Amino acid sequence: MARHYDCDKCPAYCCSYARIIVEADDIERLADHFGIGAKEASKQFTVKGEEKGERILRHQEDEHFTTICQFIDPKTRGCTIYEARPAICREFPGKGRCGYYDFLTFERDAQEDPDWVATTG
Ligand code: SF4
Ligand code: SF4
Repeated sequence: MARHYDCDKCPAYCCSYARIIVEADDIERLADHFGIGAKEASKQFTVKGEEKGERILRHQEDEHFTTICQFIDPKTRGCTIYEARPAICREFPGKGRCGYYDFLTFERDAQEDPDWVATTG
């Protein structure tokens, strides 16, 4: 299926989701990437989630979405650990369309501003 979104033109809205769940394999990959142990990686890069045993990615403050994944580069809006990103990030949005990107392009066209950023707050 053809892709109808371009992440390079998006401020990474999906990376601002509060609950980005990471599994044991993801933590291992992050640990390898940073050359540290899995326990340390879990502590540094994740926090406790809603469900028992769940770990979610830590956030940093963000000018557009209040907070966003700590691995986003705030200037380029790109993922700084792209090769080592968790499985859930590789799979998203998983179809031919991204709802946020559809909304963003609609608003950018309407406002005749190709750089306009839709925020959540
Ligand atoms: S919100 Fe959609 S277009 Fe933006 S970075 Fe995420 S998947 Fe890409
Ligand atoms: S790991 Fe990368 S792709 Fe995944 S949420 Fe964080 S910045 Fe986005």
